[in-house]
Amino acid sequence: MNIILLGPPGAGKGTQARRLVAGRDMIQLSTGDMLREARTSGTEMGKRVADVMDRGELVTDEIVIGLIREKLTSGDSKGGYIFDGFPRTLAQADALGNLMSELNEVLDAVIEMRVDDDALVARITARSTCASCGEVYNDVTKPIPADGKCSNCGGTEFTRRADDNEESLRTRLLAYYKQTSPLIGYYYAKGDLKSVDGLAEIDAVASDIQDALG
Ligand SMILES: [Zn+2]
Repeated sequence: MNIILLGPPGAGKGTQARRLVAGRDMIQLSTGDMLREARTSGTEMGKRVADVMDRGELVTDEIVIGLIREKLTSGDSKGGYIFDGFPRTLAQADALGNLMSELNEVLDAVIEMRVDDDALVARITARSTCASCGEVYNDVTKPIPADGKCSNCGGTEFTRRADDNEESLRTRLLAYYKQTSPLIGYYYAKGDLKSVDGLAEIDAVASDIQDALG
């Protein structure tokens, strides 16, 4: 099963992707992770990525699609792929669709994580992350346990993302609405779209996603 998680920054795509990795043995493809991994991989694409990044240039869609191609043809698809943070634009969505049909892969579902913007801003600015395992906490909905230890791994260090302030969030939201939100209509029209309430409790969102995937 191959799926895309779609939603604004802070909607919890990363958290839900990790659940799917653990629960369905899927492989999470996040652009940032792929780029970091490629740099040290020594593959042809990896060398191109390193060149571009070392020159301080932006990584093109063609390069990201090339990295995805490497992943999809690696022969180790486990429970399928989760695209997290890609595609971000209509052009990328077209390119991904073309790649997948070329490789005889099917996109099974696009999960839209719907959020209320005011609630999202409130939630993001209250967020912190376990430095050891990446478990996400929230001052309001899921505070760090009273003993100061991560409930997942026992870690005691927590970080707040420097960009988790309201102004930078609004900038990222604007980019999402300008470039990425048209994908909701795009995938709706293709018949791939399923929507879940992204601001429900993490377990409830996970369960809604399971239901949507059937
Ligand atoms: Zn932890």
